[in-house]
Amino acid sequence: MASVTERIYYTDPTCLEFDATVVSSETVDGRFVVVLDRTAFYPTSGGQPYDTGTIDGTAVTDVVDREDGSIGHVVGAPIETGARVHGRIDWARRFDHMQQHTGQHILSAAFDRLHHARTVGFHLGAALSTLDLDKVLGADALATAESEANRIVWENRPVSIRVATPDEAAAMTFRKEPTRSGPLRVIEVEGFDMSACGGTHVERAGQVGVIAIRSWEKFRGGMRLEFACGARALREFRVLRDAVAGSLRCLSVAPQELPSAIEGAQTENKDLRRTIRDLGERLAVHEAAALVQRARAIGSARILVDALEGWDQQGLKALASAAAGQPGVVVALISAGDPALVVIARASDVRLDAAAVLKALVQRFGGKGGGKPELAQGGGLMGARADMTAALNQIIESLIQPAS
Ligand SMILES: [Zn+2]
Repeated sequence: MASVTERIYYTDPTCLEFDATVVSSETVDGRFVVVLDRTAFYPTSGGQPYDTGTIDGTAVTDVVDREDGSIGHVVGAPIETGARVHGRIDWARRFDHMQQHTGQHILSAAFDRLHHARTVGFHLGAALSTLDLDKVLGADALATAESEANRIVWENRPVSIRVATPDEAAAMTFRKEPTRSGPLRVIEVEGFDMSACGGTHVERAGQVGVIAIRSWEKFRGGMRLEFACGARALREFRVLRDAVAGSLRCLSVAPQELPSAIEGAQTENKDLRRTIRDLGERLAVHEAAALVQRARAIGSARILVDALEGWDQQGLKALASAAAGQPGVVVALISAGDPALVVIARASDVRLDAAAVLKALVQRFGGKGGGKPELAQGGGLMGARADMTAALNQIIESLIQPAS
């Protein structure tokens, strides 16, 4: 039988070890779930993830806030009902959550006080936390709220927990009007923020360390911020520091010059690509003239079949097109490497279907491709270059028509 669990973290968020009695022990969806009469384990709720740790040495892998007011601990092995057990919380994980959660209260209050921007969402993630605001603010407004939040942290203001009766709560001014009835758990950052909240928080604002906004974007008519507090902010700083330092070493510039240096490098890269393309086209024209010199005459046509090294598909095509720019020329070029690429082109005054030549070649050597009567290209051909060259010469000779 389940019962309402006494939540030790409500009144003592720094309690790391506790003794308790197992109230129930059951299997739910193949997982062992243990309910204790009292617990310091925080269950996933209010945007804050669950605590991990151990119960009698057995790992706790999930903690669930159940509708009947009990807290279910998912453990690796069943524990007998009625047993006296000892619980231990993973403090590093819990303290991290306390830093992020308290930091969120302070940051939300700063947005509310300075810019009348309300917090409408909060999620504490494994690496970063997000906070959703109901309006869009500029970079300067974000910076003033961030500074104000950190001022409160560095003043090391007390963060208190108290339980207020409905009458007491009615007389209090909350940042966000509580929707729950009955007694309320009130978290106050002295003189700055009053919130009804069931999460775990640090005892003094200074323990948050620092609050840093990492990025922001427009989201559902307002905006979503990513932020990090305390140790997470330091971790994040280190990641960014190493990334920036690496970039600075590559570019040999000062940090503030980094964006313009990258922009400059991108522009230069674009210019170089254009130059290479232009040079490639000029080279193709030059090489094509040399190729045509080696062509052999068949009737009024000049045919050149060759296997070339160092040309990619684009280069072969440019080369073949340039060669076929001269009257009477038929050119078929095969790439180095396996499988082979092939480009077949002919001058406009030659009566030959380049696509038909390619089709006949593919039938013998495999691969695929296609094109038009004046230019065809294919790839995936397998075989010796000498065989392909011989086949191409033979196919072209058999398909070429006399000039009209
Ligand atoms: Zn809270």
